[in-house]
Parts: sequence; C-alpha cells; structure tokens
Amino acid sequence: MHLDIYAYPPYNLLAYQKVGFDLGIIVRSKIMTPLPKRKISRTRRDQRRAHDSLKVKNLVQCSNCGEMRLPHHACPTCGFYKGREVIAIKED
Ligand SMILES: [Zn+2]
Repeated sequence: MHLDIYAYPPYNLLAYQKVGFDLGIIVRSKIMTPLPKRKISRTRRDQRRAHDSLKVKNLVQCSNCGEMRLPHHACPTCGFYKGREVIAIKED
C-alpha cells in the first residue's frame, strides 16, 4: 500500500505514524504549527478564569471640582492635584 506521507499539507497524520515518521519534523519544518495535545476541560478553563473578573476602582471626590477621580492621581476633569493645577486641561 502506498502512503503519501510527503503530501502537503499533512492531513493524514495517522499515515505518518504508521510508517514511524518523525512527526516533530513537520513542526520544525514549519509545515504545521504546534497544537495543544488535548482539550482543556471546562473545569480547568474556568479555574484559569477564576481571577479574570474586573474589580471596581476605588474613587475619591476631587476637592477642586467635585468629580470622582483616582486617589493619588491628578484630576482628569480640572487638572488639579493637592490644591494646585498640575496639568492644563483643554477646553473645547
Ligand atoms: Zn477636579
């Protein structure tokens, strides 16, 4: 039986294995990209995503304009920090 192991792209990977062909050479020669060996289970996937939730930012009120801003940051609305203007805000 003829096994066309040099067919491109390598659809029949079983044919490679049957003749003891080094499948690693397919990846090394850039014919095929590396793939995960097996499916990641729902449990494993969800365990990985357990820390992915977004957290609510801690906000404080700007003493100059009253808008909410990040603590220890210049106010993006008025450009004030610690009672003085540190960044010029363009008005349009
Ligand atoms: Zn402000």
